Amino acid sequence: MGIPATSEVADGITAVDTRMAGRARVTSAYLLTGGEPALIETGPTTSSEPVIQALESLGLGPEDLAHVVVTHIHLDHAGGAGRLARRFTAATFWVHDRGAPHLADPTRLVESAGRIYGPERLRELFGPVEPVPADRLRSVSEGDRIALDGRELEVVYTPGHASHHVALVDSTTGAVFAGDALGIHLPDVRVLRPATPPPDIDVELAVESIERIRSRARAMLMFSHFGPVTEVDELCELAGSRLRKWAGIVRTALDRTDDLEEIAAVLARDTADEFDAATDPSVDLERYEILSSMQMNAAGLVRYWRKREERASGERTPGGRPQSS
Ligand SMILES: [Zn+2]
Repeated sequence: MGIPATSEVADGITAVDTRMAGRARVTSAYLLTGGEPALIETGPTTSSEPVIQALESLGLGPEDLAHVVVTHIHLDHAGGAGRLARRFTAATFWVHDRGAPHLADPTRLVESAGRIYGPERLRELFGPVEPVPADRLRSVSEGDRIALDGRELEVVYTPGHASHHVALVDSTTGAVFAGDALGIHLPDVRVLRPATPPPDIDVELAVESIERIRSRARAMLMFSHFGPVTEVDELCELAGSRLRKWAGIVRTALDRTDDLEEIAAVLARDTADEFDAATDPSVDLERYEILSSMQMNAAGLVRYWRKREERASGERTPGGRPQSS
C-alpha cells in the first residue's frame, strides 16, 4: 500500500493508520511521543499487528509504551486494548469510568456489538476482544489530567455518541482528540458524516459536547476517522447542524413507518447531497458505510426518538400533551 502507516501530524503527535478492515485511512490511533509515550485509541483487535508494527517502526518495544488512552469503548476505538495490554506490558490504560468495567470484562460489550453487527461481521471487522487486566486500568472523568512527562491530556466529558465518550485536550499543541463526537471525516473525501449508532446516541447531549469541544480546541481536531483538521469552527458548526438535520429526517420518517430499512433508505436519500462535493470516483466511499452504516445510523436515531417519547409519556400530566420536540 502506498499510503504510509505513520505520519507526524503535530508537535510530538504521530498518526498511526490502524489499517482497519485492511484499508488505509479508516481508523487512526495517535502516538504522543516523549518521555512517557502514550497511544490514543487502539483500533480493533484485527488492527493489533499493524499497530504493533507501526509502534516498532517508531522505536517502541514491548516495555516502552507508558499509556493507552481511549475516547470510548466502541470496538473500532478500544477493541484492541486487551491484545495491546499483552504486548505492551508497562502500559496503563485510561478510559471514562462508565467504560472501564467493559474493558476489564468485555462480555456485555461484545454482546451489544453483536446485536448491531451480527456475529460474522463482528468477527471479520473487529476480531476477538480480550480483557484488559483490571489492575492496569484507570478510570477518568471530566477535568482529570493525565500526566505524560512534560505534557498533559485533559479529559473533557463529551457524551452523546456514547454515554461514556471523552475528548482529550493536549496541553502542548492545544489539539483535541475528538473520538467520534463530531462524526466521521475522512481526509481524502472531506465530508463530515454524523455517526449515530445505538444504543446511546443522544442528539441533544451530542450537540452540547460538540460545543464543548469547539470551546476547547485551540488549534486542531484529531479525528479517529481520520486524521487532523484545522477548520475547527467550520466543522463543529457543520457537525451540530447535520446531527439535528439527520435526527429531524428520522423523526419525520417515523410518522409514516416503523420499518428500519425504509427509514434508512429515506435517511440515505435525504442526505445524499452532503456527498455531492465528493464525486471523485477513485475515492473509496465505502469506508463511511464500514464505520457507520446508514442502517446503523437510522437504528440509533429511531432508538433516540423512542426513548424521548417514553420519557415524555412518563412525564405527561393527566390531560396534558408531551412536548413535541
Ligand atoms: Zn464510536
